Amino acid sequence: MSREQSNKVRRRAPIELDGQEFREVGYALVDEIADFLDSIRERAVTTGATPEAIREVLGDKRLPESGMDAKQIALDAARLLIDHSLYNGNPRFMGYITSSAAPIGALGDMLAAAVNPNVGGWVLSPMATEIERQTIRWIAELIGYPSSCSGLLVSGGNMANFVGFLAGRSAKSPRSLREKGLREQPQMTVYVSRETHTWIQKAADLFGLGTSAIRWIPVDQRRRMDMQALAQQVIDDRRAGFQPIMVVGAAGTVAVGAVDPLSQIAEFCRNEKMWFHVDGAYGAPAAALPEAEADLQSLRLADSLALDPHKWLYSPLEAGCVLVQDGQRLVDAFSFTPEYYHFHEGFSEQPVNFFEWGMQNSRGFRALKVWMALRQVGRSGYVQMIREDIELSRQLYHMVAATPELEAVTNNLSITTFRFVPTDLRNAGEVNIEYLNELNRGILNEVEAGGEVFVSNAVVNDQFLLRACIVNFRTTAVDLEKVVEVVVRVGRALDAKLRPEKLQQTRKV
Ligand SMILES: *Cc1c(COP(=O)(O)O)cnc(C)c1O
Repeated sequence: MSREQSNKVRRRAPIELDGQEFREVGYALVDEIADFLDSIRERAVTTGATPEAIREVLGDKRLPESGMDAKQIALDAARLLIDHSLYNGNPRFMGYITSSAAPIGALGDMLAAAVNPNVGGWVLSPMATEIERQTIRWIAELIGYPSSCSGLLVSGGNMANFVGFLAGRSAKSPRSLREKGLREQPQMTVYVSRETHTWIQKAADLFGLGTSAIRWIPVDQRRRMDMQALAQQVIDDRRAGFQPIMVVGAAGTVAVGAVDPLSQIAEFCRNEKMWFHVDGAYGAPAAALPEAEADLQSLRLADSLALDPHKWLYSPLEAGCVLVQDGQRLVDAFSFTPEYYHFHEGFSEQPVNFFEWGMQNSRGFRALKVWMALRQVGRSGYVQMIREDIELSRQLYHMVAATPELEAVTNNLSITTFRFVPTDLRNAGEVNIEYLNELNRGILNEVEAGGEVFVSNAVVNDQFLLRACIVNFRTTAVDLEKVVEVVVRVGRALDAKLRPEKLQQTRKV
């Protein structure tokens, strides 16, 4: 066959890898990843390197004009990432709400990328669409949400909350809203506790209500929404001509893991004909525990619910999930059917086209990694891991409380907050709040850069606190001891350095 003829039947594009080449590159990469997983407990949590140093390692290279060997690229990329990352899979990582990733999820993402179904339309992704639907049902079953619900996977908690927010907004406004926008609407208002995650500001802004539509309801001692204040605010707003449309309850606030009085909010919304959305981005999976508090289990009453498989279901980033009791609400909020889609009409049932249920059009197969992990450990595996995370968090609270220089402040779900207080400042009262805040801010900076352990922070009653959130199936009691040891060591040293400087400054003034 001439070259010209063989090009007709087999085009050799520069980006192609045939099966044998893929096998070789892939095995080499899998070996690197397997070694990484075996070493993740021993590595420093982070290198603490500066942005300049990281760019130096990467090299300020120009766009390559021509290509290079695929195996070399894969191994280069592995070295760059494996040697210069923060490892949230390390057992001593307890920052923010970022979990260790289930290794099976990495394989799920690889398989999803290889087959590459477009889960926007059923005909483009027959098995993937059905697996995503099953994943949605399984997540609902796991946390006790009605399994007749609808839902879909999105990129994370923000997007999941946005979808719930939009479903609620369209449910509580006339159908003409989609055409006429907000112009001819009374001004809509939404009700959230002061502890609500910043997604609500993005939603109010992006979807045209404006952030002044947010009513920030005060919280009680336990950082839960104050129901009386909520009721009063709704009355006041109705009198003033606003249209209250939605209450957002938290199933685990981002700062301290507080759970709002969800059953009371549900009843309130029923009576007031308002939409009840629950932000369970962090805490919803804990509703799977039989011993979960009644308020957490009341998330089943929400009209819509956001949760984050990439948090407490240990999925690799990204995977968020929104569940809606009445699937028609998603169609009402999102469906347009353009003429350039002609999907197969011959089925006896109308198949699900996810592009009609949410914001995305083309959609990747995020569900696969979640589905594979659900199958790997089952309900009992998740219950065990989440329960252990919660127990460890309580243990940390007690260890901190038993340490003279540390003050334990809150413990909810798997979040414990605390701070370093030099023993001689223990009873010195209000005078020291500024100094203690500065000291603990400094401690956090040093601890985070040091790489021994990783915690983040919360601010409660104007106090700057250290915060450990355990959504990490690798963490053990030994890692908690390390947190206490490191914070005390760094705290002592920083206090010895900062306090004389402070005293000098006050003398000068
Ligand atoms: C993390 C979190 C979010 C945002 O989720 P992302 O996945 O980061 O987009 C929203 N609400 C709560 C309570 C969260 O914990």
